[in-house]
Amino acid sequence: MIDFRSDTVTKPSSEMLDAMLATPLGDDVYKDDPSVNAFEQKMATLSGFEAALIMPSGTQSNLCALLAHCGRGEEYIVGQDYHTYIYEAGGAAVLGSVVPQPIRVKKNGELSIDDIRSVIKPYDQHFAKSKLISLENTHNGKAIELDYFKRVRSLANENGLIVHLDGARIFNAITELNIELKQICQYVDSISICFSKGLGAPIGSVLCGDREFIERAKQIRKMAGGGMRQAGLLAGAMDYALEHNVKRLQNDHDNALLLATKLSNIEQFTVEHQTNMVHIDVDSSINQELLAKLLAAEGIKVSPGGRLRLVTHLDIAKADVIYASETIKDIIEMMLEAQK
Ligand SMILES: *Cc1c(COP(=O)(O)O)cnc(C)c1O
Repeated sequence: MIDFRSDTVTKPSSEMLDAMLATPLGDDVYKDDPSVNAFEQKMATLSGFEAALIMPSGTQSNLCALLAHCGRGEEYIVGQDYHTYIYEAGGAAVLGSVVPQPIRVKKNGELSIDDIRSVIKPYDQHFAKSKLISLENTHNGKAIELDYFKRVRSLANENGLIVHLDGARIFNAITELNIELKQICQYVDSISICFSKGLGAPIGSVLCGDREFIERAKQIRKMAGGGMRQAGLLAGAMDYALEHNVKRLQNDHDNALLLATKLSNIEQFTVEHQTNMVHIDVDSSINQELLAKLLAAEGIKVSPGGRLRLVTHLDIAKADVIYASETIKDIIEMMLEAQK
């Protein structure tokens, strides 16, 4: 199967599995896992923060970040389409009584500086206390420029706010922008990074920030049931991903561009591409459910409904992209023919 649904579907390669098996282990709750300790140190150095903490998922990582930064009745400003608002089951509100203040996301994936400023609340008995701005990069595949983070940082400083970055796909962003991780991290107080997406680890995220913040996040991680024992297995996978799979992300971006270019010849498609994602507005003359079904029969998996999203990743080769785009073209023609 050529699976375009997401980069989360990537499976650990046999080399990654070998690396995991060769990783020395200990009990990480006792701080005894040498591989976790070494990997957390490596991520701290790479991001330019004092400390890092491995996490079972990006959702738990963002949750621990929001709860470590904000108390009950404090507020985080967030894009209404951002993961930390809409796709985390309201965790910060449910578990931490942290109040979300969602705002509109611009087409380029940013929150407008003016929009952020307009919802920052002055001290007043009526209001929740504005505490944090939660950003995302990439957002829907869109890489957000370094300069934007600089501008948000200065707004945050003017207003005494913390900035958290959900950098689930930050390595796609820095590949696209051709910058280093540290350059973005200098403008935020914490970052959460996923290794189980385009980087190909089976499980694992990392939260980075200053030492005190990471200590608080660690206690919240324990509370959330995320204290893991021989977690070096995951550190082994993530370290392998860092060493081998970051430098190949450009392949995924090139494949997404190739896919977008080929599919843009289809009249019923309006195609957009950035980093490893292709978004397609499909004309209503095409039944997406049927399209998905017919594609599955040809070995191509997509999620129908709304805007069609195709994601490239390390389990999709250039030849797969060529085969898929030709197959999609043929099936669309067949569907239109059948309507006549
Ligand atoms: C995938 C993702 C996460 C974390 O998801 P998990 O499945 O919990 O690891 C967070 N933010 C964004 C933008 C994501 O795409």
